[in-house]
Amino acid sequence: MNVSTKCVVCEENKEQGIHIIQAFICDECEKKIVATETDAPLYQSFVEKLKSINTIKEEIVN
Ligand SMILES: [Zn+2]
Repeated sequence: MNVSTKCVVCEENKEQGIHIIQAFICDECEKKIVATETDAPLYQSFVEKLKSINTIKEEIVN
């Protein structure tokens, strides 16, 4: 059984990828992030998306 998961970076449903904390990142975006310098815009937008996920989680809990 495959459960498609929404990638936090490209916001598309993908079957293959990695889970970091509560976030899912597809293979394609993971490769981009790994190849990206930490001060590059793509990396920054990824970090911002992870923060927004944590914020949403807190709102649900509260
Ligand atoms: Zn992706």
